[in-house]
Amino acid sequence: MKEKKFIKICPKCGSTNITIPPSGLDLKMSQPDYCKDCKNRGIFPEIEEDKVEYFKKVLKNKEA
Ligand SMILES: [Zn+2]
Repeated sequence: MKEKKFIKICPKCGSTNITIPPSGLDLKMSQPDYCKDCKNRGIFPEIEEDKVEYFKKVLKNKEA
């Protein structure tokens, strides 16, 4: 059975070029995820790797 891999995706542009700040540096509050492509910040959803293409398609439909 194939193991499913989850990756973070930017809900704004659909990019998976996400930086997850290392934990432990800032004890006051947890850092949000950061999209390198559209500079979006926030808590990004984690989706199955093979759903990424589907997610991007849905985003495109929203823009149109
Ligand atoms: Zn983005």
